Formats: sequence, structure tokens, C-alpha cells
Amino acid sequence: MIIKTFDFIVIGGGSAGYAAARTFCEDGGKVAVVDGGDELSGLCILRGCMPSKTLIYSAEVLHLAKQGQVFGFEKRSLQAEMAVMQKRKRNIISEFADYRTGQLQDGRFSLFRAKAKFTGENSVELEDGTILRANKFLISTGSKISMPPVPGLDRVLFKTSDDVLDLSEVPEEVIVLGGGIVACELAQFLSRVGARVTILQRSNHILKEFPQAASTCIHEKFTEEGITVKTGVSIENLDQVDEQTIRVNYLHDGEKNSLETKFLFHALGRSPAVDNLNLEGIGVDLAESGHIETNPFQQTSVSHIYAAGDCAGPHEIVHVAIRQGETAAMHALGQKPEPLCYDHLLGVVFTDPQVASIGLLPEELDKRGIEYLSADYPFDDHGKSILMEAKHGYVAVHADKTTGVVLGAECVGKDAGELIHTLSIAVSLKATVHQLAKADWYHPTLSEIWTYPIEDLAELISSSA
Ligand SMILES: Cc1cc2nc3c(=O)[nH]c(=O)nc-3n(C[C@H](O)[C@H](O)[C@H](O)COP(=O)(O)OP(=O)(O)OC[C@H]3O[C@@H](n4cnc5c(N)ncnc54)[C@H](O)[C@@H]3O)c2cc1C
Repeated sequence: MIIKTFDFIVIGGGSAGYAAARTFCEDGGKVAVVDGGDELSGLCILRGCMPSKTLIYSAEVLHLAKQGQVFGFEKRSLQAEMAVMQKRKRNIISEFADYRTGQLQDGRFSLFRAKAKFTGENSVELEDGTILRANKFLISTGSKISMPPVPGLDRVLFKTSDDVLDLSEVPEEVIVLGGGIVACELAQFLSRVGARVTILQRSNHILKEFPQAASTCIHEKFTEEGITVKTGVSIENLDQVDEQTIRVNYLHDGEKNSLETKFLFHALGRSPAVDNLNLEGIGVDLAESGHIETNPFQQTSVSHIYAAGDCAGPHEIVHVAIRQGETAAMHALGQKPEPLCYDHLLGVVFTDPQVASIGLLPEELDKRGIEYLSADYPFDDHGKSILMEAKHGYVAVHADKTTGVVLGAECVGKDAGELIHTLSIAVSLKATVHQLAKADWYHPTLSEIWTYPIEDLAELISSSA
């Protein structure tokens, strides 16, 4: 039996795992990364952020080109060529993946290409029987498609985001189960490349984690683009009618309905990939959500075993996974990292218009009893967005009622994912609306729209202070 010993073993070499390994070895520690995936690089690069945003951007360009007459071009019939879009995506993704794989193999760590499971609090076993031992561990095994208790889901041939991102041709019609971030982003992509799309969502609004106003904007834009959005839907059951066809029986507005589709896109979310690690055997606790329970330094219930990224939650996004991985490694090194805190949480949805938020929004501020004032401004009354024909959406700023410190902000609009960063810096630096009002804002830009709510709040707060 081969036994190897390290200071720090990272199980899973995606965004969280790579960040942790890099951080730990910068201090001279002996690190092993174990990854059992068919390909190296993690979800973000292979089947998440990067391929989805590459294709979504292609679809946005196509959508804009189809609006040619509005901007003064001749009318041409344009359509998506999936083979070309996919080739572009593959080229881009393979470069990112080669780069990350190179980083994992450049000799800073020992890399093992195998699945690992714990055999004790200080040892893991690889598939070939090799035993790796260490004083400290990080679990960063990511997530997998969830299987919520929708009757019949386990008996039908559904598609996932992996299938949507690898489409070789455009399906005629698609039913999307779910109205979360991935569901909305890819539903609009599918519609813009030519599919007839119906979203079936259980809650009363899509993007339910975002403010109602944001959800309403996206719902309206989707409807305008020809996407059917049904909310408040209860799926009764799913049936595989024949090799290709799935019937969806559901209740909507108290009525029984049924739809048939050859492309059922299961976008009901992902769950932590923690099976087969023997976590129970070594006493690592899971939360009710199935995530590995951690403290703000990412320590699990077994204090020398850390967890980071999608398997730990609570927010399955890349910059959080990286921050958690770095924090875990610094803490394992005996340094004193800042504890994780999600009061500055940044969120972006890559629909068009995009949805973005930073910090604490009214629902949370009310829950915490924080006194605040809000101001907003619509894009349909803003110079740059009007000349860009990008009139959907709004910006809103929430500031402490007495001090004017910016606590949170929302943006729904063209490039909201870029625009929100100005306010993200303000929230992180605890800047006040008065300080932001003194900054230079170039005209005419989309960013300049922030000056309206900022100046309104600066006036209100100085006069009420
Ligand atoms: C379609 C889609 C779009 C997305 N878009 C965005 C976006 O725009 N922005 C954003 O911030 N986030 C986005 N996300 C989420 C983001 O991709 C994830 O939050 C992030 O990649 C998680 O990183 P991770 O390190 O936790 O896990 P992963 O990157 O999944 O890494 C886990 C690694 O662990 C390995 N592994 C698993 N089990 C074992 C085992 N037992 N032994 C050894 N190795 C193991 C796997 O092979 C894998 O390489 C998107 C996700 C999806 C699905």
C-alpha cells in the first residue's frame, strides 16, 4: 500500500480548491490536490459561468443585430448557426481549461487524478488504494444536479444545463422547469437562438431571490421577446410518452393543464456533491440544506477539516468559492483571515437586461430593523440608455438614514453586472452618498445614472440629519 504525507490536502480542484491550494503553498506548505473529474478545471470553466456567458453573449449580439432597423440598418434575416457558436465556445473554453490545468500541474502541488474518500480524520483513500495523510484538509467537491421531489422527474429523459450548453442544433420548443438564475439565463438564450420557450415556475415570481421589481422587469422583457412565463405552477407529474416526448401535467390558476415537449430542461437547481466522501464516518456535519456545515473560517465540525465552494454554500457563485478557499487556507496556516460575511454579497444574473445587486436590500434591512432611505431611477429616462435603446430597468440605492452610508444597491438594465461594481466598492468601503455625490461621473455614460438616486439621498439625508 502506498502512503504519502502532506501538510494540506485539497479534495476537488475547481475554483475553491485551486484558490486554497495556491494560497497554502505560497507559504511553503506541502500540498496535494485530488480531483476525480473526467476533465480538470472545475464547473465554472467547463460547464458553468464561462461557456454559458460565451453563448449568452453570442445570442445577445444576434438579438441586437435583429433589431437592425431600429438602429438604421437594412433588414436582413439572421439566424443562429449553432455549429459556429459552439466552435467559438469550445475554442474559448479550451484555452481557459488549458491554462487552469497548467496551473494545477506546474509543480507547486502534487496532483492526483482520482476520487478520494475519508478513511479517518487524517487520511483519505484514492480509487487505486493509495492513502494520503495530512494534518489539514479542504473539501471542495462542488455540486451536482439536484433531484427535487417532482413526481416522475426520475423517470423522464430530461435535459440539464450541460445539454443546453452543448446543443448542436436549436430545439423547436423547450419547457424550462424552474425560474432561478440558470433557468432564466438559459431560457432567454434558447429563445434568442430560435426555440419556442415556456418557463414553468412554482413561486409567484421568477428570480425569487431578487427584489420583486427586478423580477417584474425580467418577466415583462421575457414576455415581450415571446417567452411564455407561467408562475404559481404546481407540477402534478411528468410522463415519458414515447422515446422522445415528455408530458408535463400541472396545475395553474386552479386549472389542470398539460403540455408535451421533446426538450424538458430541468433547471430546478443543484445540490452539494458530498456523497461517497464518508463524511458521516468521520463526524463532518451537514446542514439541513445538504451543504457541509462550516463556521466563518470555513472549518467544519471537525476543526482541521475545512470546506469551501458549492459543497459548503450558502451562495454558489465563483467569487464566494474563491474567497472561502483562500480564507480556509489562511486559517489552516495559522494566519488571521477576515471571517466570511455575506453583508457585501454581490449577485448578477446574465439575462438581458441584466440583474445585479450588492449588499443589504430592503427585505433584509427591514428584517434587521435597520433604518434606511432608498431612492431609484428608471433607465427609460436616462440619456445614454435611451440612445442605446436599452430602456428596461432601474437603479436603486439604499443608505443608512442617519449617516448616509451606502448599505445596498440594485440595478436592472443593460450591463447591470458591470455597473453594480461602482456601488460594490462604495458598500465595501462604507462610503456615504455624500462622498459618492462628489465623485466625477462622465456624461453620457450608463454609470452616470447612479447620480440620480445618490444625489436624492444626499439631499434627503443632509436635510434630515
Ligand atoms: C450553467 C451555470 C452557470 C453558472 N454561471 C455562473 C456565473 O456566471 N457566475 C458565478 O459566479 N457562478 C456561476 N455558476 C456557479 C459556479 O460555476 C460555481 O459556483 C463554482 O464553479 C463552484 O466552484 P467549486 O470549486 O465549489 O466546485 P467545482 O468547480 O465544481 O469543483 C469541484 C471539483 O471537485 C471534484 N470532485 C468532486 N468529488 C470529488 C471526489 N470525491 N474526489 C476528488 N475530486 C472530486 C470535481 O471533479 C470538480 O473538479 C454557474 C453554474 C452553472 C451550472
